[in-house]
Amino acid sequence: VPELPEVETVRRGLNSVTRDRMITGIEIFLPRSIAAPTPTEFSQHLQGKTFGQWHRRGKYLLVQLQPSVGKQVAPSGGWLGVHLRMSGQLLWVKATDPIHKHTRVRFCCADGQDLRFIDQRTFGKLWWIPPKTDPAQVMAGLAILGPEPFSDEFSLDYLMQALARRQRPIKTALLDQAVIAGLGNIYADEALFLSGIHPTTSCAQLSRENVRSLHHSIQTVLETALQEGGTTFSSFLNIVGVNGNYGRAAWVYGRKGQPCRHCGTPIESMRLGGRSAHFCPQCQT
Ligand SMILES: [Zn+2]
Repeated sequence: VPELPEVETVRRGLNSVTRDRMITGIEIFLPRSIAAPTPTEFSQHLQGKTFGQWHRRGKYLLVQLQPSVGKQVAPSGGWLGVHLRMSGQLLWVKATDPIHKHTRVRFCCADGQDLRFIDQRTFGKLWWIPPKTDPAQVMAGLAILGPEPFSDEFSLDYLMQALARRQRPIKTALLDQAVIAGLGNIYADEALFLSGIHPTTSCAQLSRENVRSLHHSIQTVLETALQEGGTTFSSFLNIVGVNGNYGRAAWVYGRKGQPCRHCGTPIESMRLGGRSAHFCPQCQT
């Protein structure tokens, strides 16, 4: 499941290949991959547009579209929004490459290249947002997003306040996109391990020192993963279909039964809020 580092890696890849490329044709193989407007309107509005700069907010991708003709008439071609969700991938391939069976949408681009949206689990979504419209009005998930983990807004005081007096487990709070944008199961487990905090700990029980350590750990795990270009903990592929090369192994994520890298105690896993949580029962209390 792509989290902030993976989505950011995809964004950087897209910026390096799609910039100023014109969309010459669109094929939609799975209509429900298009969240808005209708698949037919989606195709009509994207046809002939040119890719501008890609942006990321949380786990969402947004690209400004430019009209390829009649620039003096239309100032903007609106936006294309993408949410990869569980298994979505955007791949930049040659137009002549065989169509993979999980291909949901194909953007044929100038110069014989395709941008393909491939999504095995089919939870991923694409949107077209009209010009002069705030994308958050169309993409409901955007409106509720909390601060980006590397923004000034995501301060220690902010995190203290967001967690204060809340009874829910800290792991559940970390997965709440309204608290922090972009964090998912892998990096939440890793950050809790680095902070020595057990995933079931109630938010209200955390001391200022706990939260300071957690704040630092969140930024550390994400930064490390970003530097490595995403992770191979899951089946993440970058924009040209190459596996992310997150070199170092996880501390706890996906390591149930294996010895803790710090103390040797077998890593445990449990269900928490419908998700798996991995932790060291010795190091995390
Ligand atoms: Zn341990």
